[in-house]
Amino acid sequence: MTGRFDGRTCLVTGAAMGIGYAIAERLGSEGARVVVADVKPAEGEDAARRLCDAGCDASFLALDVSSEDGWKQAAAAMESLGAGLDALVNNAGVEAVAPLAELDMAIWRRAMDVNLTGVYLGTRYMAPLLLAGSAVRGAGASVVNISSIMGLIGLPGSSAYAATKGGVRLFTKNIAVEFAMERKNIRVNSVHPGFIQTPMSEVGARRLAEKGLAKDVGEALGQMASMSPMGRLGRPEDIAAGVAFLVSDDAAFMTGAELVIDGGYTAR
Ligand code: NAP
Repeated sequence: MTGRFDGRTCLVTGAAMGIGYAIAERLGSEGARVVVADVKPAEGEDAARRLCDAGCDASFLALDVSSEDGWKQAAAAMESLGAGLDALVNNAGVEAVAPLAELDMAIWRRAMDVNLTGVYLGTRYMAPLLLAGSAVRGAGASVVNISSIMGLIGLPGSSAYAATKGGVRLFTKNIAVEFAMERKNIRVNSVHPGFIQTPMSEVGARRLAEKGLAKDVGEALGQMASMSPMGRLGRPEDIAAGVAFLVSDDAAFMTGAELVIDGGYTAR
């Protein structure tokens, strides 16, 4: 343990599995007290337990990021922990793959509610706690919003998802500027992962296989990997490393920035 985040409290949404779990693990392994927030109670409790078993200070918070009441309750729960919040990682998200003709309102609304409204609500309701955290420790607090390469470029069949992730990108920049010009010591940045091997990408791969676009899930994941110049899928840990950098004091002069971690996908 390097203890880079000793004494800091970090809340990670959608942290029961995938990228969120890796982020919680990385921040926790460097000394942060991590709050694992997720809509899935059993998986979230289990994730927090595994982190504790690995020596981290972790607890679970049941939270549906698309619920305003949920965020109000989460803010009250965080307040009761005391000393504010040092980092909020808005990671929870859902995939939404459908070509326009199949893109109904249910798919559109769910993607917007979780991926975009969830980021807005989290930032809004955690801002007072982040401000309190930055005042106590003086190092400044950090919001990291997990967008996607699909918040930067288009991919067929992903218009709803891309609209949410593009929204996250510009929401991030606006709040970053707003906070900075109000002299609030809270930096706000976005992270743009390429294809990462998680339960979410496996759902996408299964869909490709079901549509006959790949022989099976393995082949579909292989197709995703081959789309990146580096020829592999990213690991959740690859994203966690970037998030830890943005949370850390090494990123003290970074706000409103977009960190792309995609094996070169968007560089072509
Ligand atoms: P994942 O494997 O599906 O894990 C996401 C976790 O968030 C799951 O536990 C999920 O529960 C939970 N969640 C979903 N809706 C929620 C809500 N309303 N409130 C709280 N928690 C909720 O996803 P991932 O691949 O790790 O993705 C994490 C983030 O990275 C997402 O924002 C995603 O869009 C982004 N991203 C992923 C990739 C990729 O290739 N995997 C690439 C670029 C960006 P359920 O299982 O019930 O949904």
